[in-house]
Amino acid sequence: MLVKPVVIPKEKRSDFYQCKYDHFKNLTLWIVVIACLIEMVFFVSDCGSVNGLSTDTILSRFSIVVPLLIYIFVFKHVSSYKIMAPFSYVMIHACMLSVIWTSTYISNPTNLRESFLIMHIVFMVAGISAPKGLHCFFHLLMIGEIVLTLYLNNIGGIDTIISLDGAGLVGVCSFEFIFENAYAEQYNIQKKLEDLSLHDQLTGAFNRSKLSMLCMEETNELVFKNAGFILLDINEFKKINENFGHDVGDQIIQELYEIIKVCTRGDDVCIRMGGEQFLIIVPNQGLARTKEIGERIRSKVAKKTDFACTFKISVGVSVYKGGDYHVTINLADKALKFAKENDVNMVVAYEDM
Ligand code: GH3
Ligand code: MG
Repeated sequence: MLVKPVVIPKEKRSDFYQCKYDHFKNLTLWIVVIACLIEMVFFVSDCGSVNGLSTDTILSRFSIVVPLLIYIFVFKHVSSYKIMAPFSYVMIHACMLSVIWTSTYISNPTNLRESFLIMHIVFMVAGISAPKGLHCFFHLLMIGEIVLTLYLNNIGGIDTIISLDGAGLVGVCSFEFIFENAYAEQYNIQKKLEDLSLHDQLTGAFNRSKLSMLCMEETNELVFKNAGFILLDINEFKKINENFGHDVGDQIIQELYEIIKVCTRGDDVCIRMGGEQFLIIVPNQGLARTKEIGERIRSKVAKKTDFACTFKISVGVSVYKGGDYHVTINLADKALKFAKENDVNMVVAYEDM
């Protein structure tokens, strides 16, 4: 097959179209601005057709200025493709309507065909940032506008519409399908790379890079106002490696992560900090609930007997209340060290120490 179709699952489609829009939105902004400018520049040739300046053609040609200013303002403040993609097409149609309006004042409009061809190109470029289905819908409306223009000006040429504009429409829509397919391939690769860079290969838990995504770059402040931090670590893990081998060590780390998954919820974030140490961030939870989760994990591990070898964990807990998150990790680490020095199979909260 010439083009292998790439399928984006339904649940990822919204993210896919948002990425496509974000990537190419400046291109769309510029093509809308250029289309409006070209439409206004045709005012010069109108002067030749109406023998001088005419307030009618000035008004019809420059009626696009206010919508264009509104579009630029909205573009700066709204980033959703669901609003901006249709709005961009509305602007292009506003250009078309302005052409139709102007054509009614000109006795023998000669540059209409050029305007239509330019508009097909404008649609093609605007479609690069938009969903292909939306493109086809808005581009198809243009044929109606062309028919209306020719009808209002008593110009025949349905055969030209079919041969030129029909071909233009099919050609541009096909281009949008092929382009979106190519972008989908790129999107899938990008998502796979993002996934690999954020996840630990042994367990599938997040790695430390996830932390930088949860905080502001300059202040290291978390996106959550408050959150429970649970730092846990397998006791004497080095001995497990030495006595049972590295493979069993790996298996134990994986099994611990499976227990963590069972004991946490979807919006909790589990990060493998390195070796046999995990950090669990429990958003919007206080000390009592955080300790409860830590205790649930500790007791589940202590009770399990079907592991490759038995092991125990120590747990340190602290609550994040704003500021640099490293401070809270250090406090949870102090609690973890205290647990190791005292019992090596317990949950200790820094706030209780
Ligand atoms: P403590 O009770 O104080 O926590 O001591 P520990 O032996 O558990 O911890 P220590 O930091 O002394 O040793 C951790 C060991 O974990 C050292 C390292 O070789 C091993 N390790 C680190 N990453 C992996 C891994 O991915 N797989 C395996 N099997 N071992 C790992
Ligand atoms: Mg350890």
